[in-house]
Amino acid sequence: MSSDPTAWICRTCANQHPPTAEPPAVCRICADDRQFVPAGGQEWTSLAELAAEGHRTSWSEVEPGLFQLTVTPQVGIGHRGLLVTTPRGGVLWDPPGYLDDEAVRFVRDHGGLLATARSHPHLCGVDAEWSARFPGPDGTGAPRWVPRRDAGWLLRPEGSVRWWEDRAEPAPGVTLVRCGGHFAGSAVLHVAAAAGGRGALLVGDTLMVLPGERRVAFMRSYPMLLPLPERYLDRLLAALDDLSYDRVHGAWPGRSVDSGAREVVARSAELYRAWLTGAARDPDQDG
Ligand SMILES: [Zn+2]
Repeated sequence: MSSDPTAWICRTCANQHPPTAEPPAVCRICADDRQFVPAGGQEWTSLAELAAEGHRTSWSEVEPGLFQLTVTPQVGIGHRGLLVTTPRGGVLWDPPGYLDDEAVRFVRDHGGLLATARSHPHLCGVDAEWSARFPGPDGTGAPRWVPRRDAGWLLRPEGSVRWWEDRAEPAPGVTLVRCGGHFAGSAVLHVAAAAGGRGALLVGDTLMVLPGERRVAFMRSYPMLLPLPERYLDRLLAALDDLSYDRVHGAWPGRSVDSGAREVVARSAELYRAWLTGAARDPDQDG
């Protein structure tokens, strides 16, 4: 194994760790009770190794001015990055765990990169690499917006981190909103101009867009199936309450609620609450 410092990428979650000669013993993200280490044990890779294996980025337009970036074959859990283009540059939401020159060129051709931001610590991917590829006049990379409440989960604190508290606006009309829930710093990105001006939320899995695209869920852990306590659900819903939106874009390709999303969120929350608290009944079991 090379002794040159390598920014190791966890094969399971695709989050990149700071450069070290040898890979860490464990991935902090995967060792947490919201994630898992595969039965076969911790595995690491690197950008160079992923490139040599033939991974490539591709992109497509999700709606005018909003593009998804995906990696084939998938890395980690295969989530999509979403690039919100604005007149001042793009905001890249939930960067995937791989990038290549073609992806960088695509972003450059669509106005450059103003900032990165993420829904929660699992979906940072290679955000530090994205930042470094788009340095400002002083040579510092593009800002990476990280909620202070998740400071303990930041894997790559070096460079261009921009801390934020409950709300922040990395670009005009593009607002980070801290909701908590899955993590204390779990967030959504509100894009006022999206959905034809009706507004959209980019949610990662702060809310999970479910199959059928007319329901969302709220969990502490999706892979480990841990529910979210009601008090956290209440805070999450309160954080969203004053936002205008008609659409929700989730963490995976195709997982978007195209219209009526405010009602979908409200209805889904009441269903979730009913089963969480036991207010809902299954007549086949309760008689
Ligand atoms: Zn991991």
